[in-house]
Amino acid sequence: MQIYIDGNWFDKDEAKISVYDHGLLYGDGVFEGIRIYGGTIFRLKEHVRRLYDSAKAIMLTIPMTAVEMEALLIEAVERNNKQEGYIRLVITRGVGDLGINPATCPKASVIAIVDDIALYPAEHYEKGIKVITASTRRNSPDALDPKIKSLNYLNNVMAKMEARQAGCLEAIMLNREGKVAECTGDNIFYVRNGVLITPSGDQGALKGITRDVVIEAAEGIGMETRAVPTTLYDLYTADECFLTGTAAEMIPVTTIDGRSIGEGKPGPETSKIREAFQALIRNER
Ligand code: PMP
Repeated sequence: MQIYIDGNWFDKDEAKISVYDHGLLYGDGVFEGIRIYGGTIFRLKEHVRRLYDSAKAIMLTIPMTAVEMEALLIEAVERNNKQEGYIRLVITRGVGDLGINPATCPKASVIAIVDDIALYPAEHYEKGIKVITASTRRNSPDALDPKIKSLNYLNNVMAKMEARQAGCLEAIMLNREGKVAECTGDNIFYVRNGVLITPSGDQGALKGITRDVVIEAAEGIGMETRAVPTTLYDLYTADECFLTGTAAEMIPVTTIDGRSIGEGKPGPETSKIREAFQALIRNER
């Protein structure tokens, strides 16, 4: 495995960064998770755009242009000879002193890891998964906007622990107002009366790339889609529900906080959207 760090390529065991890196000391940085399908980087431009937007929002200067970043990621995939896989791209504030002040970090660090993709077992896609609502809330946009894909994931980590303790794979995270934001590493969708709905963008969710692809896929097969404020009641009483993310793709949810969703199995609209979603990926690979 060849991992890129600041202009050099390392084997996994040799790929190391400084303990003075502010990404480690303060979670000061941004990242992306990107999928490789058939040797092609899926939605490369969209991921790079989101990365640069996140960096801009935290006043982090990435020491290369977006075009150079795209070329770097393509080289990383080629060097690792990956047909199917995942890229973790991390930009940290870089090496500074022990204080918070980012001005002590002269240059951001760029790290690109190409690895295999860890998928949920196939049966979860066939039968659907159980989720709970976490007591840990999603970051509030007026503190740290979840649209920024920053290295600050501690509340998502805690929500994930709650999910695992409850025997679930994922947890729903609410925003400060108690509205549904998203899951720890996925966006959430539900279907009601044939309409595909997701929490509106201002409810405190990441602008998921897969979220956009799923909306595109659903509209492509003639479904109406909406992004509206969403409560737990809306989810509990939905006909169907599923999660979306780069790693998970589209995974059906059949139980939320002990309530069966619809008939308690993946619904027909979810299956149709999933087919359209997979066709879209096949076309782009
Ligand atoms: N929400 C959060 C908190 C995430 O970390 C992710 C991605 N890892 C998503 C949603 C899904 O975004 P995407 O479809 O771009 O992977």
